[in-house]
Amino acid sequence: MQSLAGAGRVASYIPELAKVPAGRFGMALATLDGQLFTVGDARERFSVQSISKVFTLTLAIQQVGEKLFERVGKEPSGNPFNSLVQLEYEHGIPRNPFINAGALVVTDELLSHLPDAKAAVLAFARRLGGASDLEYDAAVAASERKTGFTNIALANFLKSHGNLHHPVDVVLDAYFHHCSLSMSCVELAQAFLFLANHGVSPATGERLLTKSQAKRLNAILLTCGFYDEAGEFAFRVGLPGKSGVGGGIAAVMPGRWAVTVWSPEINRHGNSVRGMKALELLTTMTGESIF
Ligand code: GLU
Repeated sequence: MQSLAGAGRVASYIPELAKVPAGRFGMALATLDGQLFTVGDARERFSVQSISKVFTLTLAIQQVGEKLFERVGKEPSGNPFNSLVQLEYEHGIPRNPFINAGALVVTDELLSHLPDAKAAVLAFARRLGGASDLEYDAAVAASERKTGFTNIALANFLKSHGNLHHPVDVVLDAYFHHCSLSMSCVELAQAFLFLANHGVSPATGERLLTKSQAKRLNAILLTCGFYDEAGEFAFRVGLPGKSGVGGGIAAVMPGRWAVTVWSPEINRHGNSVRGMKALELLTTMTGESIF
């Protein structure tokens, strides 16, 4: 694992993220029967970034169900996470909820159905992660607001196609906050367990999604969770999962466990280099994957 140090770069397009020490490495695996295994910096909080898109999508499905997919697709994008080109070809309907344009539409939907979309996502993460002190990182959100010109362009483009119902600034503010959520590997692994458990949180007993919705969300994670590297992740790791440019990856083994790994150096697709390697070793050495 050490040999991969320097193989990626800490994200710097959000300046605040560039301050994170590159050498951090943490991993946590939580099982459905209550066991927890940790490695390294598993309890240190980091910026979850796009992993928050799993929480926002879950909340949006709870609110509107399948209707959501009239505004956002469920096909792999095969394009970078912040691509404008595809959105133009496809007339403002984002390919899937895990690219930035898709998450902006999902956030817009939350703003229509929840009194406070920022508070709702935070409360959701606190409940599932078992940590009432989780917070948005105001400095990260402000940093992204200041330099997020591509996301600002995506939001305006969606608006021009009539696929954003709220003001651009309001949607972006909620989206940037969701991305700025700080969680540790342990908290994220716990939070993802409902996806390994047919939609029911083992910690709270709460049904968050129907069995069918949980299956579908896992399917979208497998095909779209790693942007234009989803095929590579499925090939090497073989689990549904989601990455973030903070260097985190959360993945699930349905019926068994959820795992999170964090290592801030990411590759050009926005996925953690050592995180992917660690998960590849995990599924190869244990022989456990969905295939
Ligand atoms: N906040 C990041 C952005 O919008 C999320 C991207 C990611 O984590 O992949 O650019």
